[in-house]
Amino acid sequence: MHFTSTRSPRNVTSAQAIARGLADDGGLFIPQEFPKISDELVKRMIDMDYKARAREVLALYLTDFSADEIARSVEAAYTGTFDQENPAPLVELHPGLNILELWHGPTCAFKDMALQLLPHLLTISARKTAPGRTMVILTATSGDTGKAALDGFADVPGTKIIVFYPQNGVSAMQKLQMVTQKGDNVAVCAIEGNFDDAQNGVKHIFADSEMKQYLNARDMEFSSANSINFGRLAPQIVYYVSAYCDLIRQGKLRRGERFNVAVPTGNFGNILAAVYAREMGIPIGKLICASNRNNILTDFIRTGVYDRNRPFYTTTSPSMDILISSNLERMLALLYGNDTAAVAGLMEQLAKTGRYAISADVLAKLQSQFYGGFCDDAGTAATIGETFRKYHYLCDPHTAVALNVYEQYRRETGDDTPCVLASTASPFKFASAVLPAVRPGALPADEFEMVTALADATKLPVPKPLAGLKDLPVLHNGCVTKEKMKNFIRDFLG
Ligand SMILES: *Cc1c(COP(=O)(O)O)cnc(C)c1O
Repeated sequence: MHFTSTRSPRNVTSAQAIARGLADDGGLFIPQEFPKISDELVKRMIDMDYKARAREVLALYLTDFSADEIARSVEAAYTGTFDQENPAPLVELHPGLNILELWHGPTCAFKDMALQLLPHLLTISARKTAPGRTMVILTATSGDTGKAALDGFADVPGTKIIVFYPQNGVSAMQKLQMVTQKGDNVAVCAIEGNFDDAQNGVKHIFADSEMKQYLNARDMEFSSANSINFGRLAPQIVYYVSAYCDLIRQGKLRRGERFNVAVPTGNFGNILAAVYAREMGIPIGKLICASNRNNILTDFIRTGVYDRNRPFYTTTSPSMDILISSNLERMLALLYGNDTAAVAGLMEQLAKTGRYAISADVLAKLQSQFYGGFCDDAGTAATIGETFRKYHYLCDPHTAVALNVYEQYRRETGDDTPCVLASTASPFKFASAVLPAVRPGALPADEFEMVTALADATKLPVPKPLAGLKDLPVLHNGCVTKEKMKNFIRDFLG
């Protein structure tokens, strides 16, 4: 099992791909070919628990890891870190619609599924590829990645982690989670700009030769905890495979029978993991790609034109407020049959003009696999309210966007194939958007009063990691311009 880049032929091991994060040509690492999950393996996995399934799936990609290294990593990631035994339970909302709850981890968002595991995969990868060097994790966040990465990497020996977030682009709760992060190896800083500014800043620093020398001189090396790192994707593939096994175990699906997947999408990492599961042989039918008012992906799926020259909106689902979906590059590689020159060409156009168009035949292929749709904040709130009243199920705004778009898809197509819908955050993480949707009346001024009011109104418990935040001291209050990100990093690394 080897990996190549989306932009030029490369041949690296999984440990090299994970340790480096980004390929040296600016592209993303992708498997040269997809390992297959045999029917016999599915049969065995049906009776396994989540951790055992994770070991099986990861072993197919991480062929340069020992079975023991994988087992130890999985054990550490999913033992005692989630609020229940199964980290990714499947809950039936109504017959045919199953919610895959991915937010039972320590930061209450789906990023934990990957970021509890990544530090272990990364430190093992570093030992294999760059023994003795400190890995410096550099991350841009639209809110949830930052905290999940901080929680995963805090005080992990041989690593340091630096997180940049857009000053006005994350929720109050997300911000508080980050600025209260403990750990001797962590740094957190706000950026004057939006998520794309933060992400672009980080991408430039990765490619900056001066910074490379600076780190080299200190026996350090950059790596990434963003979903551009294959070590983030692999753990996400696991939960789609696991959901398939659970559907069979619960008698909702026969082996080999198709199901659709609906995902609230930002950087395209979560939905891409479903695509990868399908490439491995899991019978996934339509992929329903849900966006908020920043509906660049809806337009792309409907027209074949990706155009970021448009206004950027701040919405009640901030983790999807993104105009450049990094992982789409991996999808393009798949659509273009790993034609690296074609993908490199599109990415160059995107960098130069903010726009590219795919050919008619590639668009047809894309549309045969995907449905793209979006909903605005009013639609999001309406869906949260309706879902709670009808099913007594409380969902967060990101999940609500996916539910709304799933309903649009059902109405338009009449397709009633069983569906797995990814639920990506605890509703308590976004109380200021969720509370008014389920309880009319004045909104408390303080975020924690909103959380308490939401718990009262719904009779649901506040997740422990959020309840405890109120009493923690703020440890990080820096804010810099995009141009000053390098200075911040140098100040922290010394
Ligand atoms: C990150 C995130 C998303 C978007 O996931 P991508 O993998 O970036 O597409 C959706 N919802 C929540 C709550 C998130 O944290």
